[in-house]
Amino acid sequence: MIVNMSEGATEQEIEHVIERVREAGYQPHVTRGTQKTIVAAVGNGRRHELEALQVAPGVENVVPIAQPFKLVSRQTRPHRTVVDVQGVKIGGDAVVVMAGPCSVESREQLLSTAQAVKKAGATMLRGGAYKPRTSPYDFQGLGVEALKILREASETTGLPVVTEVMSTEDVDLICEHTDMLQVGARNMQNFALLRRLATVKKPILLKRGPSATVKEWLLAAEYLLAGGNGDVVLCERGIKTFETETRNTIDLAAVALAKDLSHLPVIADPSHGTGKQSLIGAVSRAAIAVGADGLIIEVHPCPERALSDGPQSLDFTAFEKVMRSLSEPLRAVGTTLKPRVAASA
Ligand code: PEP
Ligand code: MN
Repeated sequence: MIVNMSEGATEQEIEHVIERVREAGYQPHVTRGTQKTIVAAVGNGRRHELEALQVAPGVENVVPIAQPFKLVSRQTRPHRTVVDVQGVKIGGDAVVVMAGPCSVESREQLLSTAQAVKKAGATMLRGGAYKPRTSPYDFQGLGVEALKILREASETTGLPVVTEVMSTEDVDLICEHTDMLQVGARNMQNFALLRRLATVKKPILLKRGPSATVKEWLLAAEYLLAGGNGDVVLCERGIKTFETETRNTIDLAAVALAKDLSHLPVIADPSHGTGKQSLIGAVSRAAIAVGADGLIIEVHPCPERALSDGPQSLDFTAFEKVMRSLSEPLRAVGTTLKPRVAASA
């Protein structure tokens, strides 16, 4: 339920409502707007006690939260959330491009890629250290060695880093070395991992599961918010359909829908979403046109030699070309690729 406070509600009246929400067996989540304050009551409590707050002083009305994802819903927080990753603001007035290799393969590979993507206008660096591979015989990532290389690349370029966390065991180590933690598509409903990540002080990039509905995806995000981590960015990376020409079917309507249903920023992954170098430019432009807050794109110095996801990785020249091609849709939706606010090297 949501308790909407009236415009002139006093601090004392708001505090009273918060207290009553707790007494009724719910967790209060307060959003203070410039005009109005909203107290969302989340959990399983005594509903009639909340409904009775209708007549409490300073209360405008008490309404049910329509969606099962309570804290993720725009009803609970009418203002859009901006997630700050070391000065890079995701969900603000600029589109954020995260770029880098699927996997960190060597120091040279990552450092050269980091410089190249920065030069082309990316504002964050991606790179996998722990890789979720379909076959156990495929390259599994360099682990902690990759984390150290990511840190070095971040320090030399000033680009904040995002990398995937696959297991609760690795959370502390990854937090030490990186700026944002990615929950991969295959782990979107790993509830133990989500519960653990809800307690960390780093932003989370939550990819949509290959077979997850938008509702399931937003409920996965709800685990993070309910557990105390509100710095969540959603990422559409394609779902399984009957189509086989593309690796996954990127659902751009889901980008628009998730932004409609939720206050969280939403980005798109045209690399995993298509599996094809040749489609990345077109899908990136389309994602911006539907309102994506950012893109995550795989870039490799030599895609034909990549240890993972070569067919969907752009070389430096192709990436630069895609970045240049974004100017039209950016202009059309009235945004830019702004450099990060914090000082960079
Ligand atoms: C990746 O980002 O390299 C990755 C494995 O992504 P996803 O979880 O979307 O497949
Ligand atoms: Mn990949």
